[in-house]
Amino acid sequence: MRKNDIATVRIEDIGSNGEGIGKIEGYALFIKDAVIGDVVEAKIMKAKKNYAYAKLVNIVTPSEFRVKKPVCPMARSCGGCQIQEMEYGRQLSFKEDKVREKLIRIGGIPEEIVSKAMEPIVGMENPFAYRNKAQFPVGTDRDGRIVAGFYAGRTHSIIPNTRCALGVEVNERILRCVIDFMEEFRISAYHEEEHRGLVRHVLIRYGFRTREIMVCLVINGNGIPHGEVLAERLSGIEGMTSITYSVNRERTNVIMGNEIRLLWGQTYITDVIGDVKYQISPLSFYQVNPVQTEKLYGVAMEYAQLTGEETVWDLYCGIGTISLFLAKKAKQVYGVEIVPQAVLDARMNAKINGIGNVEFFEGKAEKVLPEFGKKYEEEHEGRKYYADVVVVDPPRKGCDEGLLRTIVEMGAKRVVYVSCDPATLSRDLKYLRGEGYEVERVRAVDQFPQTVHVETVCLLSKLHADQHIEVELQMDELDLTAAESKATYEEIKDYVLEHTGLKVSSLYIAQVKEKCGIIERANYNLPKSENSRQPKCPLEKEMAIREALEHFRMI
Ligand code: SAH
Repeated sequence: MRKNDIATVRIEDIGSNGEGIGKIEGYALFIKDAVIGDVVEAKIMKAKKNYAYAKLVNIVTPSEFRVKKPVCPMARSCGGCQIQEMEYGRQLSFKEDKVREKLIRIGGIPEEIVSKAMEPIVGMENPFAYRNKAQFPVGTDRDGRIVAGFYAGRTHSIIPNTRCALGVEVNERILRCVIDFMEEFRISAYHEEEHRGLVRHVLIRYGFRTREIMVCLVINGNGIPHGEVLAERLSGIEGMTSITYSVNRERTNVIMGNEIRLLWGQTYITDVIGDVKYQISPLSFYQVNPVQTEKLYGVAMEYAQLTGEETVWDLYCGIGTISLFLAKKAKQVYGVEIVPQAVLDARMNAKINGIGNVEFFEGKAEKVLPEFGKKYEEEHEGRKYYADVVVVDPPRKGCDEGLLRTIVEMGAKRVVYVSCDPATLSRDLKYLRGEGYEVERVRAVDQFPQTVHVETVCLLSKLHADQHIEVELQMDELDLTAAESKATYEEIKDYVLEHTGLKVSSLYIAQVKEKCGIIERANYNLPKSENSRQPKCPLEKEMAIREALEHFRMI
């Protein structure tokens, strides 16, 4: 295959970015917007030895899983939704398969254990208009008109669209109001390349249960001229509660600045999940899909099996959302969070809900927990600290290995792992299984319909000593006892082989990881003897490994 060739191919698989995968005599084509089951014509854009990226030009026979017409006419050009053209039921089974496959391949968990543990994915009844948060970039079009919209996939060019199908209806009215105001008072939009102009982004948050609205303009300047007029107009929108602006004068991809200034109303909105109220400020992390979040926390709660007697740790707790949920059924909850503002929010949320049996610590979970245990031992004549249940909800990169070790040493009866990345979840489960825990229940929750992302909740229970030995034996048989990094290496090898047909060694992977600045284990890099020469990773393989590292979000 060469660039610009047109190929007709049946789509047989779905890639991790939601693209359709078809094969012609073993040569793989990755085709964005093609749906599994389609027969398509695609134009080769970038051809490699064993695979190519191709562009969908014509759907010859549409798949039974293809929707008749995508809800959003911009579905293809927008970077937000990757699988909107795939029927929702198929999206759900794709996500379920993705979790299952990672657990087996990266986690090394025997298939029968995975099948026994997995419960049906929790989908949405109405998988649109679910986002409570939107951040629209603002810019200027060729004719000098102010536009707001979204970034086209993988770029920073703004495609005007104020009607995102995943967002709430009121977004459009708010954006119209901001744009009209800017036109009328000749207020400039930010120009990214030249780093000039004022208004960069409009952040909108909407409390699904309280109907409170927050608008925060991110500006490259010190204030908004005639801001009071804008505030007055926006405050006429029903539910408007908080109008603020955030100063961000940096040349950066980070959207928000560090400081929030009030224009009208208050600096936060309140929302409710279950029967817990949460105050949310513009800078705090808050789950974006409130309907599913309630179900997600419900699953976490069920897995925690609380009776009111337990001590529970909620690590990576954000504004204390899960902690407060759990506190109602536990004796004592401790939350740990790294962002200071979020910890303040968490404490405030405990207060406004009248929840007294929860305490929040600011810091890294991997530091706070062992320090707490050490202090406890010192104060209790060497008695080891014990917690009944540990909940973790880390960012994409998963848990620190030192933290997992501490959890194991503490002997927690149950670990409830909430994860937004099944790959790092599986890596961490592998560690915990090697240390005497077994995966009992797993449930994916679709927090992000129309996208390839999936959230997973997993319950692990501590095995009795004799069960533990059995697991260790199984791990031995599978040759999986070596460190967790090996799984990552195997996974990279598999990925490279699958996508490029190339075989790469651990040494090559180590070399590329080192080049990319990822800390490396010394034994992979050291030659066996002083004068032995190491083969150097060829460029083609390096590119393939880099792609895999990108895929796993390691770089
Ligand atoms: N459980 C919360 C937040 C989950 S997002 C919720 O459901 O809303 C993950 C959180 O982990 C973020 O708030 C992030 O700031 C925090 N975090 C990241 N690294 C951390 C670390 N090493 N220790 C503690 N918290 C961390």
